[in-house]
Amino acid sequence: MCIDRLVKILKGYEFDEITLATLCSHTSLQIFHGARKEGFKTLGLAVGEVPRYYDAYPQAKPDDFFVLENHVEVLERAAELRERNVIVIPHGSLVEYLGAENYMMLEVPTFGNRRVLQWESDRTKTRQWLTSAGVPMPQEIQDPRDIASPVIVKFYGAKGGQGFFLAKNYTDFEKGIEPGAQYTIQEFVLGTRFYFHYFYSPLATTGYLLTKGALEMLGIDRRLEANVDEIYRADFAVKPTFVVTGNIPVVLREKLLDPAFDLGRRVVEKSIELFGGMIGPFCLETMVTDALEFKVFEVSARLVAGTNLYPTGSPYSDFVYDSMSCGRRIALEIRNALRSNQLSTVLS
Ligand code: AMP
Repeated sequence: MCIDRLVKILKGYEFDEITLATLCSHTSLQIFHGARKEGFKTLGLAVGEVPRYYDAYPQAKPDDFFVLENHVEVLERAAELRERNVIVIPHGSLVEYLGAENYMMLEVPTFGNRRVLQWESDRTKTRQWLTSAGVPMPQEIQDPRDIASPVIVKFYGAKGGQGFFLAKNYTDFEKGIEPGAQYTIQEFVLGTRFYFHYFYSPLATTGYLLTKGALEMLGIDRRLEANVDEIYRADFAVKPTFVVTGNIPVVLREKLLDPAFDLGRRVVEKSIELFGGMIGPFCLETMVTDALEFKVFEVSARLVAGTNLYPTGSPYSDFVYDSMSCGRRIALEIRNALRSNQLSTVLS
């Protein structure tokens, strides 16, 4: 939505009645819980029927539900949401189920800058963004005939590592690839994985300052992937697979924090230059090698599921805030924007 349309919609909003809404899935518990802590009303967008698990978690249950027949119906019912002074908080599942193009067209103010989607959903553009920012990425192999050392083959649009496979040469590649599939081939990096939960605030004036605003790093997780993470348990040959099944908390050697912040800084600074900034939560998926060097193999431009580990704070957020989840941090940013009359800066 263009800035004029956004500003016009916000002019019609009653600021005391602002309601934070998200799809009932993924990271919604911490979003609703955090919104409530910051004094906002909450609305759960439920498809089909209202999930029962909210009854078990009353402090993270939205005040009300908005039931849709399917995800795309939200586009047609945008006016109803605007009447309820809704700001939509995106998370991985919301954007995936609705579809990036539909999400771009949603006529409801959303938290963060939707323009990031053009750069995030196209692997070539993502690489252009990160490498031009000076962020080290695993080498990419254009022609599978050039595979001369271990690589990971990743399918476009693959969810949670589904179908990814390793190859040491062209023969392995031919065996693994499905006809017609779109893929990228990356150098297989060995090391330790760290998935950083950053938050970029264009409004902040203190902290780890950037050209504009400040960068926070509120937590780190590592994904659990079947079967690669437990492959050592088999005493027979197994082909590794990379299907995400969960997340575990991790902390980083303290001396690596500066390089980790520098990666986040570079990605945000470049995003400001390219498309006006990646606002709010984002994640860099990284590998730290035994030479203590980082390689970034993926960026997620919104709240990732690994943040669910820290509903009341993490070993890092505790040094900035009391009891702060990433979901709550979003609500706090909206609260700060309201107080300083800069709401349109953090929405799109
Ligand atoms: P992604 O969809 O890019 O997050 O990748 C899914 C999983 O594949 C990651 O969580 C890693 O475990 C693994 N992976 C992805 N890229 C690489 C790489 N270049 N080298 C080694 N492992 C990787």
